[in-house]
Amino acid sequence: MKKHNFSAGPSILPQEVLQKAAQAVLDFNDSGLSLLEISHRSKDFVAVMDEARSLALELLGLTGKGYQALFLHGGASLEFLMVPYNLMTKAGKAAYLETGTWAVGAIKEAKAFGETVVVASSKDANFNYIPKGYSIPGDADYFHCTSNNTIFGTQMTEFPDVDMPLVCDMSSDIFSRELDFSKFGMIYAGAQKNMGPAGVTLVVIKEEILGKTGRSIPNMLNLQQHIEKESMYNTPPVFATYASLLTLQWLKNLGGISAIEKQNNAKAELLYAEIDRNPLFKGTAVKEDRSKMNVCFLLEDESKTEAFDNLWKAAGISGLAGHRSVGGYRASIYNALPIQSVQVLVDAMKEFERTA
Ligand SMILES: *Cc1c(COP(=O)(O)O)cnc(C)c1O
Repeated sequence: MKKHNFSAGPSILPQEVLQKAAQAVLDFNDSGLSLLEISHRSKDFVAVMDEARSLALELLGLTGKGYQALFLHGGASLEFLMVPYNLMTKAGKAAYLETGTWAVGAIKEAKAFGETVVVASSKDANFNYIPKGYSIPGDADYFHCTSNNTIFGTQMTEFPDVDMPLVCDMSSDIFSRELDFSKFGMIYAGAQKNMGPAGVTLVVIKEEILGKTGRSIPNMLNLQQHIEKESMYNTPPVFATYASLLTLQWLKNLGGISAIEKQNNAKAELLYAEIDRNPLFKGTAVKEDRSKMNVCFLLEDESKTEAFDNLWKAAGISGLAGHRSVGGYRASIYNALPIQSVQVLVDAMKEFERTA
């Protein structure tokens, strides 16, 4: 039986994407060849890369606005250093908002390149909120933030208006909600949370912000090189890019980001309502900053952990354990997770209340 998959990442993909991807591994486009055994320069694969790049921009509303989409190796973690490499001037500085473990990682890499100002941090409360009312130095080369904090279950709803490029790690909420994406100079996301399988990273970059650092950048880390080579500087992650394209096509057929956002809102409301109503549970994130992708919660009485774990496992639920730095539970309710799965979890929580 198919499990209700609440894994934080790699995570659930639409069933039709899994089926089409499996078929392409056996016989791609009725070519008599597997997707895994053809040249990345073949007509069939070049078409995949072109469509993935243009569909990513289309879904974000960025077509014709000076942006390029790239499907690269290295994960979001490599972008932590590609950001300063490509955007921080030699004598310049960068500004960062510290909202969780991933932001900490991005800041650490930037420090190796130059002055890195942390404008605000929620570390003082184990990252359970999004800092507000901070000021950003006007002479920074860029401002970097993390839109959704996968581990701590907080999400930014407002992004500052700045005169410098706004750079955002959207690994765990890309394509989940409508935003004015043209506010951003650069967006990046590891695919394996909300877009596809592990192994590929989406980078969306406004071309005009590149080429200003005065640094000599190794080709594989140089976003201008990747743009010039149309995301095929070297052999791209062929399978992961194809499966991501299938997910983007699935999203477009559903009605795009505005349609999935309605479903995501309904799922988050259903689950948070139960956490707030059920006396056996409590949420970990400050209410106004709660994530609609990663819902983190605890048992009021930890001695009942085993009983609750047995109950949700018996209900066919998988991947509910919280990150070790927070403990408790984390329900990741990404785009591909149906509301029926959330209902199964809510029913298990209600049953726990009756029987615990
Ligand atoms: C998972 C995650 C990362 C790390 O992604 P990798 O692709 O494993 O490097 C970075 N940022 C956020 C917000 C994440 O959720």
